[in-house]
Amino acid sequence: MRFLLSLVMAIPLTGQTYDVVIANGRVLDPATNLDGVRNIGVENGKIAAISAAPLEGRTRIDAKGLIVAPGFIDLHSHGQTPEAYRFKARDGVTTALEMEVGVSPVAAWYAARRGKALINFGATSGELPARMRVMHDTGKLLPHDHAVERASTEEERREIRDLVRQGLDDGALGIGMGIAYEPLATRTEVLGIFRIAAEHKTAVYVHMRSGGPVEPGAIDALEEVIADAAVSGASLHVVHITSTCIRETPQCLEMIAGARAHHLDVTTEAYPYTAGMTDISSAIFSPGWQARQGGTTYSDLQWAATGERLTEESFGRYRETGGMVAIYSIPEDIVRVAMTNPMVMIASDGIIENGKGHPRAAGTYARVLGRYVREEHVLSLMDAVRRMTVMPADRLGLKNKGRLAVGADADITVFDAARVIDRATFEKPAQYSEGIEYVLVDGTPVVNRGELVEGVLPGKGVRR
Ligand SMILES: [Zn+2]
Repeated sequence: MRFLLSLVMAIPLTGQTYDVVIANGRVLDPATNLDGVRNIGVENGKIAAISAAPLEGRTRIDAKGLIVAPGFIDLHSHGQTPEAYRFKARDGVTTALEMEVGVSPVAAWYAARRGKALINFGATSGELPARMRVMHDTGKLLPHDHAVERASTEEERREIRDLVRQGLDDGALGIGMGIAYEPLATRTEVLGIFRIAAEHKTAVYVHMRSGGPVEPGAIDALEEVIADAAVSGASLHVVHITSTCIRETPQCLEMIAGARAHHLDVTTEAYPYTAGMTDISSAIFSPGWQARQGGTTYSDLQWAATGERLTEESFGRYRETGGMVAIYSIPEDIVRVAMTNPMVMIASDGIIENGKGHPRAAGTYARVLGRYVREEHVLSLMDAVRRMTVMPADRLGLKNKGRLAVGADADITVFDAARVIDRATFEKPAQYSEGIEYVLVDGTPVVNRGELVEGVLPGKGVRR
């Protein structure tokens, strides 16, 4: 009896006991520009209280001296496996979305992850996977043969459009398009896909037709998709602006700003690295790739499986078999152009398989916060967090994510601004970031005191 009494006494008379309380952290909410010490109460997967006064919780996280931010939303995460989700969580990401390539069929993809995911997941209705299926292409993530080597027939185009529509009806978050990977897709065909996005009042997430300085290059490609957005009324999100536009990145960003100033809904993103990565057997490496990649050569390519730099001979060999290769094509000052521009969202474009891949899969968010915010003062902490949270949430039309507000989903990342840093490198990509101390997904801790929590799978499918 005395024990019970003392337990009751411990609870403030006015208060409630929350599932989780994150106490005394410096709360950053870019949606409202809140930057102050607060306590956050989480109940049933939602943020139930944000208070300067103390709160009581069954689980208490001491966040004194730490930053409490909305969980990061990665718009461009090809890695959609338990392995990939672990690296994302340790990098502060609570929602990882496959928006560029997308998936098809959509319903089966979501069903396969239901109840089995560490973090929230979602995808676009993918035009590329639909095309690969309809045209019987044998590639895995990206087209490899039939969808590259010949144009689609009218019947195939109808089937592709039907699959894309079906994916949207099944809840996909928009349409994904990789025009560079389907070089024989005509301008009219691409516009047809934008029209479907417009019908469904959503966006096309696009890897543009061409990049770099040699015409037809980045500028032509951006003109194509901006025109498609203007003509159709669809929204447009241009993926990885730096790896596509390379030295033309400032001009590309100016064009996007101009389109926005004239009331088109156009957004973009970048990752904080000087190399991209893609499949060596894809159309990106068809003859003339060196000029299209801004003057790169064989030794600018690094084979992900071994870390070796390529020669003309090894390039030819690996192009036959296929596999992931890093391309050192993005100058550091161009990375900084993107990091400096408040319009550019942070997105990883990452994929990691059996510990092999690009370090961006594991380190994108901690690298921006550690290297570009803390060490080099390229952008402010609030600006960085905004571009990782509320900006992608708004792009997706998700009112309950990307913000710390009462009623919002309790996806929360707590990090040490003085220590946060990426550890993943091109040689050893499978290294967790440091300084991400606590991560909550739907109110459940998945990272606790800087370590992954075992045996929890709170991630939910995010749909339109
Ligand atoms: Zn891409």
